[in-house]
Amino acid sequence: MKVLITGGAGFIGSNFVLYMIKNYPDYQIINVDALTYAGNLENLRSIEHHPNYRFVKADIADRTALEPLFAEGLDAVINFAAESHVDRSILQPDIFVRTNILGTQTLLELSKQAGLKKFVQVSTDEVYGTLGETGLFTEETPLAPNSPYSASKAGADLLVRAYHETFGLPVKITRCSNNYGPFQFPEKLIPLMIQNALQDKALPVYGDGLNVRDWLYVEDHCSAIDLVLHKGRDGEVYNVGGSNERNNIQVVQTILRELGKPETLITYVKDRLGHDRRYAIDADKIRRELGWSPKYVYESGMKETIQWYLNNKEWMDQVVSGSYQHYYTVQYKDR
Ligand code: NAD
Repeated sequence: MKVLITGGAGFIGSNFVLYMIKNYPDYQIINVDALTYAGNLENLRSIEHHPNYRFVKADIADRTALEPLFAEGLDAVINFAAESHVDRSILQPDIFVRTNILGTQTLLELSKQAGLKKFVQVSTDEVYGTLGETGLFTEETPLAPNSPYSASKAGADLLVRAYHETFGLPVKITRCSNNYGPFQFPEKLIPLMIQNALQDKALPVYGDGLNVRDWLYVEDHCSAIDLVLHKGRDGEVYNVGGSNERNNIQVVQTILRELGKPETLITYVKDRLGHDRRYAIDADKIRRELGWSPKYVYESGMKETIQWYLNNKEWMDQVVSGSYQHYYTVQYKDR
């Protein structure tokens, strides 16, 4: 198979590229990434010379740049590329619309013209909006996104659906809960808190810290996408989640405990605008239909993750230099 993976230099995309090269060494993998602040080729250093791996720097909204790749004859496209951070979507929504919606539509159009046989859209549970204290998101839950990020991902999902309904493009959509693990950019909760705790800096927790997320170790997300790619039914949505609900304070406490740091580092800051209260996933469909099950529970995944950041301080030092410092200052000013 010749597989085009977009956003393969980001957090989940790079974990997925490494997973594919390990599990399907005969596949040809083309990684297309624009290398925004979130893209980091360091993540792929171990496979950069693999004979079946190729990196192409390109924007998914740039049709002209992508055309030659589709002309080579692809078997599958897996679209990870996105602007992915809710806080940044509040500061600058326009880039989210361009990459997440227009970029996805560009890939869909090229896929349609090429007669592509497999298109997987990597989406998020955030498109469903927010839950009260009980209940789970199923694939039938109506889309009700609340942030510019989730609205742009929902817009992309609807275009993916439309290309299936209108043109018969063989698409599948995955909607996964919050991921954590190696190579995650330190603007996201878990690496941010690890990084700050290691430096004895304040750990900024939004609002009352009781917002709940369902946490999934990134490798388990990769195995779910693998199954959807190979065995998923066309036109279907598959929710992916680990049934590991934790509120933000619990996550921060786990990190402090593992690192032997005091809870006095926790600092409550003004809540995120439109902050969704709770996400929780019903992943019964992918478990039942495709036989997926996660390998990690929250405790083992967190231990693995914290150890990875301890072993890879140089990676962290490299990504937190330069433009990240500017973002951090703007995001947490007055707090
Ligand atoms: P990330 O921000 O770490 O990586 C995104 C990657 O996309 C980066 O390498 C970036 O350079 C690239 N990119 C951005 N704009 C691009 C463009 N216009 N053209 C080409 N490449 C571009 O994101 P992530 O956390 O790895 O998320 C990957 C995907 O998974 C996203 O689609 C996201 O919505 C989805 N998702 C993420 C989570 C999560 O918890 N992180 C959960 C569910 C779904």
